[in-house]
Amino acid sequence: MDTEWMDNGLCRQVAPSTFFPNDGVGVDVARRICASCPVQAPCLEYALVERIDHGVWGGASERERRRILKRRRQEAAAAR
Ligand code: SF4
Repeated sequence: MDTEWMDNGLCRQVAPSTFFPNDGVGVDVARRICASCPVQAPCLEYALVERIDHGVWGGASERERRRILKRRRQEAAAAR
């Protein structure tokens, strides 16, 4: 999968630990950075396709990504 978008991620300007928070407050901090990141969409898609379990990617926490994947599976099943 293409990873050139990573060069333009805003997270390159902050400590990597920011995107691996231990609590909801930390998730919100990371999400706020992602919200103004120019590569949010490809970042989220990358994390979903690669099944990345940890951290905030594309503005979504682990739990949110699991929900997105579950919804996609349900939609795919319904379309069959
Ligand atoms: S969306 Fe968030 S995690 Fe992804 S590249 Fe941008 S700042 Fe980094």
